[in-house]
Amino acid sequence: MEKLLPRFLEYVSIDTQSDPHSKTTPSTEKQWNLAKKLVMELHQVGMQEVSIDENAYIMATLPSNIDKKVPIIGFISHIDTTPDFTGKNVKPQIVENYDGKDIVLNKAKDIVLSPDYFEDLLQYEGQTLITTDGTTLLGADDKAGIAEIITAMEYLTQHPEIKHGEIRIAFTPDEEIGRGAHKFDVDKFGAAWAYTMDGSQVGELEFENFNAAKAKIKIEGKSVHPGYAKNKMVNAIGIANEFLSLLPPKEVPEKTSDREGFFHVHKIKGEIEKAEIELIIRDHDENHFEARKELLKDITEKLISKYGDFLTIEIEDQYRNMREKVEPVFHIVEIAKEAMESLGIEPIIKPIRGGTDGSQLSYKDLPCPNIFAGGHNFHGKYEYVPLESMEKAVQVIVKICELTAIQIK
Ligand SMILES: [Zn+2]
Repeated sequence: MEKLLPRFLEYVSIDTQSDPHSKTTPSTEKQWNLAKKLVMELHQVGMQEVSIDENAYIMATLPSNIDKKVPIIGFISHIDTTPDFTGKNVKPQIVENYDGKDIVLNKAKDIVLSPDYFEDLLQYEGQTLITTDGTTLLGADDKAGIAEIITAMEYLTQHPEIKHGEIRIAFTPDEEIGRGAHKFDVDKFGAAWAYTMDGSQVGELEFENFNAAKAKIKIEGKSVHPGYAKNKMVNAIGIANEFLSLLPPKEVPEKTSDREGFFHVHKIKGEIEKAEIELIIRDHDENHFEARKELLKDITEKLISKYGDFLTIEIEDQYRNMREKVEPVFHIVEIAKEAMESLGIEPIIKPIRGGTDGSQLSYKDLPCPNIFAGGHNFHGKYEYVPLESMEKAVQVIVKICELTAIQIK
């Protein structure tokens, strides 16, 4: 366990920011820098069948140490950090025995991590926090996950008295740009199920995410001299405006939480001749999700019958709620829950208001709930992770391996 922190600090010092505009995999060359290091390290800790493919997907095996046949299970995390905030020259700061007060991240720039604003900090009084220096993100998302998985595997190799079946692990590129699962070879991985170690605070256990679609509404108008436009002009801006007015005003991101879905208009551009609306639809419930898509089509139809054939709509599904794939094998959630409880960690089970690589993998027939990696305030300069939370994640991984071997026939 003593290598957990140095490992984490080493990984975050390597810039692995991904790039949504790139067409290659990995999307940035620099992700190879960490990937190659991890391959070496997996050999060092005694993992078998260590492989890295041409897209920088890493896989490795911890062989079973029992005769009984138990399902192969997996643990997954991602190499890249978000394109939203710089991950170059990360200089982590270690705050030992946190006193529950403001943490000055950067004196010169007056950047302070304060429990007045981030009240979660108060849960970690007395613990060791790893923060940024206020100029970059930290990269606990998801280098905490990588450090935890490798440390757990090392722990298991050093403790043969803990009995477990075959364990597979994988590290993927480009999760932050939604492509971590795209080139993941589920057959090669060969696990019956897996867990992404990519959640936030201690106890998080997630197996539900949004159903997601995006829509684009295009409106063609007709420009005529405004002084002589009566019954002739078709103003695309006006029709776009009417379209927006027909959406339910309370079903937007800023007014919804938990299991409430929404429409989110994120782009609109327009002139008289031409307007375009782009929006996304999110809903955990499959039926509500379909109803939302229907509503958009109905509004389009309604405006067509009112003004004529000036509108078109394209709706494209993006990802689906993994719950459907996890529910038939619910013991995989139960084992994770029991592992946490046996370690005195209270499981926090809640639906993700977003998507995960796990949802895509679940639909590739690798059911894949998400477990906490310990960090907070991802994707920005206030990101931090308590060392104790990372240690708990290591213990949860070890315990899941152990319980799977005991419980599953
Ligand atoms: Zn992540």
